Amino acid sequence: MKTIMEPFRIKMTEPIHIISKEERIKALERANFNVFALDAKDCCIDLLTDSGTGAMSAQQWAALMIGDESYAGSKSWKKFEATVQEITGLKHVLPTHQGRAAENILATTRLKPTDVVPNNSHFDTTRANIEFTGARALDLLCKEGLNTALDVPFKGNMDLEKLENCIKTNGAENIPFAMITVTNNTGGGQPVSMQNVKDVKALLSKYGIPLYIDACRFAENAYFIKQLEKGYEDKTLLEIAQEMFSYADGATMSCKKDGLANIGGFLCTNNDEWATDFRNLLILREGFPTYGGLAGRDLEVIAVGLMEALAYDYQVYRHATVEYLGKKLDKKGIPFVKPVGGHAVFLDARKFLPHIPQNEFPGIGLVNELYIDGGVRAVELGSVMFGKQDEKGNEIPANLELVRLAFPRRVYTQSHFDYLVEVISDVWKNRTSIPSYKIAYQPKFLRHFTCHFKKI
Ligand SMILES: *Cc1c(COP(=O)(O)O)cnc(C)c1O
Repeated sequence: MKTIMEPFRIKMTEPIHIISKEERIKALERANFNVFALDAKDCCIDLLTDSGTGAMSAQQWAALMIGDESYAGSKSWKKFEATVQEITGLKHVLPTHQGRAAENILATTRLKPTDVVPNNSHFDTTRANIEFTGARALDLLCKEGLNTALDVPFKGNMDLEKLENCIKTNGAENIPFAMITVTNNTGGGQPVSMQNVKDVKALLSKYGIPLYIDACRFAENAYFIKQLEKGYEDKTLLEIAQEMFSYADGATMSCKKDGLANIGGFLCTNNDEWATDFRNLLILREGFPTYGGLAGRDLEVIAVGLMEALAYDYQVYRHATVEYLGKKLDKKGIPFVKPVGGHAVFLDARKFLPHIPQNEFPGIGLVNELYIDGGVRAVELGSVMFGKQDEKGNEIPANLELVRLAFPRRVYTQSHFDYLVEVISDVWKNRTSIPSYKIAYQPKFLRHFTCHFKKI
């Protein structure tokens, strides 16, 4: 059969309320034109993030009930640790309440202000955790990754030449670790090839620099490798993931992504000395090392979810939903990052709204219009999230102005996607009348979450 259907039935439903356009306009004004401040009940299709928004399986709900809440050495911890070790092969596993807690522990124990951390593209929280220590977070994405229209595989790869230059310019002694993000969330959810992970590792090894994988979407990346990279067609997703992690010295993970859980994360390392430092800080920040920031039942749910994410049928369906939206948009000539990512479609706001200059935030204009028009909540990944202000208050724009439509896992069906296509098409038709915005208030870090906008 040509039709790819969901490899699950629905056992429980959650109602969606659709409020009127007039009500949405008022809600957005109350939110100071920042969709992060909207009430979720006022968003009928919520594509703000794929983080922690997935639907759990019957097996996961059942696992909740057998959660062992012992403070130390619980059975659920043992299961969690064994699962993470089976997938990653990494020696020390530290559970955290989510990905950024793992990043925080890694950054604060290892970095000083003169340090540099290269990555293909840092995620916003990774960058913020690194910059909070005074160190610099560098994005060394391959040049294909910067061209949103170029339809080639593995646009998430790290540029090896840039990496070598970075090491030579800054000195290996100032790079305590390097990172690679699979898939590359901020660069369009694009995959990283096994070859690239291998090459990055080989180059770093020459200079004695450890490699940490930002593993949030390791299973989606494994699927891309199976589909697109020679030599991996007949391997299971688990085998591919295992090989990928075999090149790593450690990993940070948000289990809210490919853990198929609503909360959770972990930090792994092969370095005994680093593990001791991590554990000591973990106890202060998160909790005892056998639960971190999590309940026993969360550990149990994640252990099941990590393996469900590696199920081939699940990944076939997951990628088919993203491709479905991509094909529909392509037919209408709507600009988005090609090929589509593993967890999201990224609209190209600069091409969508060429009349809005980067310092007037085309991504925000598009996000707000999608909400007003159809109650769809998306997120800007552009100059609000990744841009900055210099000392004089001038905006330094981001490389790309994207709007991410992130797909919660196992949540929306095909008719939800058809509705979404209708909303985006409508906004596309009326694009020349979309206004630009300026920032009316912003905090020092991670400004996109809480800043206020004003229409220009
Ligand atoms: C979500 C995410 C993180 C941070 O994880 P949280 O659980 O949200 O703290 C880090 N890196 C990437 C690539 C992510 O997508």
